[in-house]
Formats: sequence, C-alpha cells, structure tokens
Amino acid sequence: MTESTSNNPVDEFKPIVLVIDDSVDVHRLLKARLRTEELEFREALDGESGLKVARDDSPTVILLDLDMPVMDGFEVLRVLKEDPRTLQIPVIVLSGLQSSQDKVTAFDLGAVDYVTKPFDLTELRVRVRSTIRMQRLIRMLAQKAQIDGLTGLWNRVYFNTRLTEELGRLSRREGNLSLAVLDIDHFKSINDTYGHPAGDGVIQGLAKLLQGEFRHTDSVCRYGGEEFGVIMPDTTLADAASVAERVRVAFERMVWPRHPERKTTISIGVAAVGGSGTLTVEAIIELADKNLYAAKSGGRNRVVATVADPRSVAGLRAAG
Ligand code: GH3
Ligand code: MG
Ligand code: MG
Repeated sequence: MTESTSNNPVDEFKPIVLVIDDSVDVHRLLKARLRTEELEFREALDGESGLKVARDDSPTVILLDLDMPVMDGFEVLRVLKEDPRTLQIPVIVLSGLQSSQDKVTAFDLGAVDYVTKPFDLTELRVRVRSTIRMQRLIRMLAQKAQIDGLTGLWNRVYFNTRLTEELGRLSRREGNLSLAVLDIDHFKSINDTYGHPAGDGVIQGLAKLLQGEFRHTDSVCRYGGEEFGVIMPDTTLADAASVAERVRVAFERMVWPRHPERKTTISIGVAAVGGSGTLTVEAIIELADKNLYAAKSGGRNRVVATVADPRSVAGLRAAG
C-alpha cells in the first residue's frame, strides 16, 4: 500500500492499553511498571465505564481485574466478547484470585492470558508485549485480506465496507460524498493484441496514476478486473468531476513501454450525494454505473457525472 490512500494499512500505531481495575493503586503501579513500553494508557475504575472506553477507543489490549464491586471482571469479559465492537480486543485478566477454577472460567470466557497479583514485573511486561505483537499480526493479516495483489490498492471487500461507513456517516450529518467508477476502454483488445502481462501493466499504471491524483482522504479501490472505484468523502459533484476529468486526460497521455504505439483511455461515471440526502450503497453504485455506461455508449474516453435526484433520494431513504 502506498502513502496516498486513506487509512494506510501498514502504519505504525502506538498501542493503547486499557486498565479496568477498581484500585487506584493498581493503575498507578501498572503505569509505572510499563513505563518503558511506549504505551498509551486508558483507565477505568469500574466495569461499566471500562466497557464504554473499550467501545469508544478500541484499545489494543485490555488488562482486566476480576474482583470488582457491582460488575465483576467475569461479567465485563462476557459483555466484551458478546459485542462485535470489542470482541476482537485481547483481554489479559489480572487477579489476586488464585484458584484454577477462576483461570479456567476466564479462559473459557475468552481471556488470552492471566496474570496474578502481586505482579511479577518482568512477567507482566512480556505478557503485555506478546499480546500486542499478536494483535499487530492479526491486524496486518486482516488488512492484507482487503488489499488487491496486482496493484496494492484496496480491494472490493474494503470498498464495500468503506462506502457503507461513509454513507452511514453522511446520514447522521449534512455533507457531500462522491463516488467515481472507472473502466479501461477496449481493454480486452490490449490483452488480445499485446498479451496478458501488457494488460496487467496497464492496470498497474492506472492504479499508480489514481494513487497520485486522488486525495489522501479518498479511498482508491480496484473493484475488479479493469474497473476501479474511488470513494471521495466531503467532495461535491463539481470537484469530483473535475478530478475525474484530470485523471482521464492524464491517462490518455500515458505512454506504455510495452506498446508505445497504442494509447489507452478510460471512461468514468461519477455520482454524488449532498445536502441532507443520503443513498444506500447499492443506489449510489447503480447511479455511478449508469453514468459509466452512458460514458461508454457516448463514445468512451469521457466523464459523465450526475448528482443523485433528491426525490429518488427521499424514496430510497424511506425504503432503506
Ligand atoms: P469496454 O470498453 O466496453 O470496457 O470494453 P473492454 O474490452 O474493456 O471490456 P470487457 O469487459 O469486454 O473486457 C474486460 C477484460 O479485462 C476481460 C478480462 O479478461 C480482462 N481482465 C480482467 N482482469 C484482468 C487482469 O487482472 N489482468 C488482465 N491482463 N486482464 C484482465
Ligand atoms: Mg473496459
Ligand atoms: Mg469492464
């Protein structure tokens, strides 16, 4: 993945450790003992507020006390593992309780590790460290599953997730969102004339161009084959159409090392939604696709951009 796409998958992050414990002393002690680990701390003194922080701040790891008034650690663990927003966060249980039954229960509920109080400094540190390492690996694999192998762009899985998120955000506040779908013109003939590797080269060349032309906050995705989708949050139709036009021209001018005599072009459909309106994922894709089709049938190598009709927006919103 390159720097120019949003949510750069290989970014370095500072791990957040959430400590849920009713003892202020434990918080102080943990902070002091893990000082050298470059961690960010969040503190909660009871189960209920701990759950809230877990949901809001998505910590990398949770250190959870079992013995707490009102809502004990077992109950907190149960709720964490039932909630899709928190179920993947690894939980290390901290406890003065030494019975093996407690450990069994904690592991059965989904804890990844168990540390007994009073803490052995070295042991605690390596357990936190190894849990964070494992979490990083999981995160990396999850991101890999959303990256296209040929281009390094986001793939269709990410595209769908991201578009759903952005449209959801838009339904909660006023704003703009544009979507561009791009398709290489007569691409089959590039493959047929110059071979599949030449076709791959064109796909990769377009991917690189898109990464350079769109903003950091836009999501550039390979939708499939020789089709690409770009999600542009906070972007009006006019702005999206003008970027699309710039990309169209830049692509048309590219010279291909494997076939310098043969230019290649793209057609682009742009759909925008703005104001207080919003659309379903299917509806905005359908509109952008319709515009792409119009660009193709209009002669290719062109941009067709329209804003979603407010009447159909209202209807779609009521339906969805
Ligand atoms: P149009 O202008 O209407 O878009 O015509 P087209 O030839 O571009 O479209 P069509 O859908 O007929 O052909 C797309 C071709 O893209 C067919 C498929 O074999 C090829 N293709 C899909 N994925 C890849 C890939 O990863 N690499 C290569 N080289 N070709 C691919
Ligand atoms: Mg095509
Ligand atoms: Mg196609």
